[in-house]
Amino acid sequence: MAYTYDDQNIFAKILRGEIPNNTVLETEHALAFRDINPQAPTHVLVIPKGPYVCFDHFAQEASDAEIVDYIRAVGEVCKAEGVEADGFRLIANAGKNGVQEVPHLHVHILAGRNLGRMLA
Ligand code: IMP
Repeated sequence: MAYTYDDQNIFAKILRGEIPNNTVLETEHALAFRDINPQAPTHVLVIPKGPYVCFDHFAQEASDAEIVDYIRAVGEVCKAEGVEADGFRLIANAGKNGVQEVPHLHVHILAGRNLGRMLA
């Protein structure tokens, strides 16, 4: 399917500097910041800087450079936050059934407590 990107979404506004954020890491193609409503002691969102709605949109249309930079950024945040030792969870909600609130790709990095066996 063809995705249409809404450049008025809140993460687009964060990328344009119109809304403040608590930045953890910035790279050429990615930005990581703390979730405003944390669900765990560590709750960081990692977004690509490009206009991608969700993970499959990004995987289909982003350049190799963007994809490598983005995945590396997730890894760098995991390392910086020290989540490897006790484990963590990555979540990328998409669309209506995925209950995606903000239509700009974001991976949630959750850690710091037992997250249970539920997928969501
Ligand atoms: P989704 O349900 O996967 O789309 O998650 C969106 C996330 O964005 C939620 O966990 C929100 O708490 C978070 N969020 C919404 N607005 C902001 C903000 O301005 N800064 C940081 N996180 C935000």
